[in-house]
Amino acid sequence: MRNRMIAGNWKMNKTYTEGVELASGLADELKDGTGSVDVVVCPPAVDLKGVAEVIDQKKAPFALGAQNVYWEEHGAFTGETAPDMLTNIGATYCIIGHSERRGYFHETDEEINKKAKALMAHGIVPISCCGEPLEVREAGKHVEFVVDQIKKDTEGLEIADPSKYVIAYEPIWAIGTGKTATADDAQEVCGAIRKTLAEIFGQKTADGIRILYGGSAKPNNVAGFLEKDDVDGALVGGASLKADSFAAMVKAAM
Ligand code: PEP
Repeated sequence: MRNRMIAGNWKMNKTYTEGVELASGLADELKDGTGSVDVVVCPPAVDLKGVAEVIDQKKAPFALGAQNVYWEEHGAFTGETAPDMLTNIGATYCIIGHSERRGYFHETDEEINKKAKALMAHGIVPISCCGEPLEVREAGKHVEFVVDQIKKDTEGLEIADPSKYVIAYEPIWAIGTGKTATADDAQEVCGAIRKTLAEIFGQKTADGIRILYGGSAKPNNVAGFLEKDDVDGALVGGASLKADSFAAMVKAAM
């Protein structure tokens, strides 16, 4: 019922030239297609146009995503990017609420909610991140912490097509640290997220929303996460920076 998704978050890595090279290498690795797996790459903003051109020229089987957006339509917001600027260059997904933006740039759930609404109004699929810090996990409060984020981040959203809203559960202590959550840890929280979505939007909508796991996901561990009922794919940081490792994760999901 839900197509699996493997999404790569390049973060602040790859110049324009390097980004075009990586996208081109990935297109070669995936030239035989990705079956029913939806693949998304999210380069830095300045690389988006170059990667869009690679996708177009090579008929690459992956979609383009941004890493951030601002919710206003246009105007005096120096340094920000509006939703229609993303659609205009071919981006169809956008990561919001990543823990690095929540942490370093003090983004709040209210702002993440506004970004989701702005993206959806422009037909861009949000990949909305949530996840607990280590101290919350150690206190055993991770489920309630994440459920609270989900309630705030989805407040007032109208989800007509559940395939057009994606959640990524990324425990902060597992991001870029080499420490992965176990597949059971991921299932516990992803299951609670789906239950919360069912309470808010109804079971049918909840059953159609993809929930990804993120946090040191690699070619050698991704299959274990994907076996779990409520884990529909992965949001991948470090391992998305090499075409062969990211392609291996896509193939593991096929
Ligand atoms: C991420 O930042 O979204 C992420 C999951 O990073 P990594 O795979 O490097 O832990």
